[in-house]
Amino acid sequence: MNNISHIHSCYGCAVCAMACPKKIIDIHLNSNGFYEPYITDESKCVNCGLCLDVCSYTHTETALKEKPKVSYGAWSKEVSVRRVSASGGVGFEIGRYLIEQGYKAIGVKYSLENRRAEHYVAETVEDFIFSMGSKYIQSYTLSGFKGINRKDKFLITGTPCQIDSLRRYICRMKCEEHFILMDFFCHGVPSSHVWHKYVKEQQKVLGLLEFVSWRNKLNGWHDSWAMVLDGSKQQGEVVDWHDFYNMLIKGKKKIVNSRWTQGDAFYNMFLGNNCLGKACYKHCKFKYDCSSADVRIGDMWGNTYATEDKGVTACVAFTERGKKVLMNINCELNEYPFEQVAEGQIKAPITYPLGWSVVIQAAKSSIISMKQLVFISRVVGKINKIIK
Ligand SMILES: Cc1cc2nc3c(=O)[nH]c(=O)nc-3n(C[C@H](O)[C@H](O)[C@H](O)COP(=O)(O)OP(=O)(O)OC[C@H]3O[C@@H](n4cnc5c(N)ncnc54)[C@H](O)[C@@H]3O)c2cc1C
Ligand code: SF4
Ligand code: SF4
Repeated sequence: MNNISHIHSCYGCAVCAMACPKKIIDIHLNSNGFYEPYITDESKCVNCGLCLDVCSYTHTETALKEKPKVSYGAWSKEVSVRRVSASGGVGFEIGRYLIEQGYKAIGVKYSLENRRAEHYVAETVEDFIFSMGSKYIQSYTLSGFKGINRKDKFLITGTPCQIDSLRRYICRMKCEEHFILMDFFCHGVPSSHVWHKYVKEQQKVLGLLEFVSWRNKLNGWHDSWAMVLDGSKQQGEVVDWHDFYNMLIKGKKKIVNSRWTQGDAFYNMFLGNNCLGKACYKHCKFKYDCSSADVRIGDMWGNTYATEDKGVTACVAFTERGKKVLMNINCELNEYPFEQVAEGQIKAPITYPLGWSVVIQAAKSSIISMKQLVFISRVVGKINKIIK
C-alpha cells in the first residue's frame, strides 16, 4: 500500500495522522520509547498517499529551501520572562505578539499526569505561559495538532522535523499564509524509557510530582508561571545561564534542584547522546542552517555573550514573514552574521553509536537504576570514542 505502514523509527510528528482523510492513523510509543504512527484499520485505506506526501521522514530534502535572511542575539525586555525562559525568552515573546494579533499559538507544555511533553493550543497569552522553557523529551503532538484548521491563524512551535512535516501539510492544504512556524536548533530527543525511569526514582524521594522544569536560572523553589503572571515576584538566587541545565522538580514531600554539572542523571543521559531517537542520528537533515520554519530559536552559546548570565536567544528568520515578526516583538534585538549567532551549534548529525540498543534496553529494564544506566551509557560512549 502507498501509505505509512512500512515507516518505523521516524520523527513521530503525527502529521500523517492529521492529513489522513479516513482518520485511520494514530501514534503510539514504540518498544524503544519513541512515537511512531500505525494504521488502525488497513481495510479503510484508499491508497491516496497523502500521509507519505506530508511526511518529512520520507523526503531527503527540507520542505523550505531558504537560507537565513537575518540573525539576532535577542532577549525579552520583560525581566521575569527572561528569567523564566530557557534562554532570552524570544520564544514566548513571539507567541505573545502573535496572540495579540489574533493568532492561536500551539506550544509544548509538560503533563504531570501523562508524564510527557504535549503540544496544546493557547488562545490567550496567559495560556501560552506554560509553553515557556524547553522540555528535553519528545512531545506528543496530536493533542495540539488536532486543533489546527484552515480558518484560523496559527503560530506552531516544535522540533525542526515536526515543523518540516507541518510545512508540507500547510503547502498541500494551500493555507501557508495562515501560519507562522517556529523551530529551534535541535540536539535530539531521548527515549521516553530514560525519562520514565528518572521520574520514577525522583518520585520515590520527593513524593508525587507537582512541578517539573528543565532549565532554571534560579536556584531554590520558584513558581515560574506565577513569576511571569506577576512580574514583580522575584524568588530564588540567580545562577549563571551558562550553567543552567538545572532541573527543578517539586514533589508533594520535597523539592530538588539537580544540575548537569553536579551529575544530574537525566542530563547525563540526554547530553551523552547514546539514547536519542534513531532518526536523530543519521536521518536528521535539520542541523545548523537547514530549517523549514519562518523563525528558528536557540541558545546563543558562542563568544559574543560569554559573560552574559541572564540568557540570550539566538534567533534566525528564514522567511520575510519571520523577519517581520521578529522586528515587532517586545525584545532587545542585536543583529550579527548567521555564523556568529549559530556559533557552537551542531553542524552535522550526531554519529549513531554502536551499542545504542544496549542503552535503550537498559533504560527499559525495571531492574536497572538510573545510576547503572548512566554507567552503561558512559561505557558505550567510551567504546565508541576508542573505535573512532
Ligand atoms: C529537545 C530540544 C532540543 C534542543 N536542542 C537545542 C540545541 O541543540 N541548541 C540550542 O541552542 N537550543 C536547543 N534547544 C532550544 C533551547 O533549549 C531553547 O528553547 C531556545 O534557546 C529558546 O529559548 P527561549 O528562551 O527563546 O524560549 P522558550 O520560552 O524557552 O521557548 C521554548 C519553545 O520551545 C517549545 N518546546 C519546548 N519543549 C519542546 C519539545 N519537547 N518539543 C517541541 N517544542 C518544544 C515551546 O513550545 C516553546 O515555544 C532545544 C530544545 C528542545 C526542546
Ligand atoms: S494512503 Fe490515504 S487513506 Fe491510506 S493511510 Fe495514508 S492518508 Fe490515510
Ligand atoms: S535531532 Fe533532528 S530528528 Fe531529532 S528531534 Fe531534532 S530535528 Fe527531529
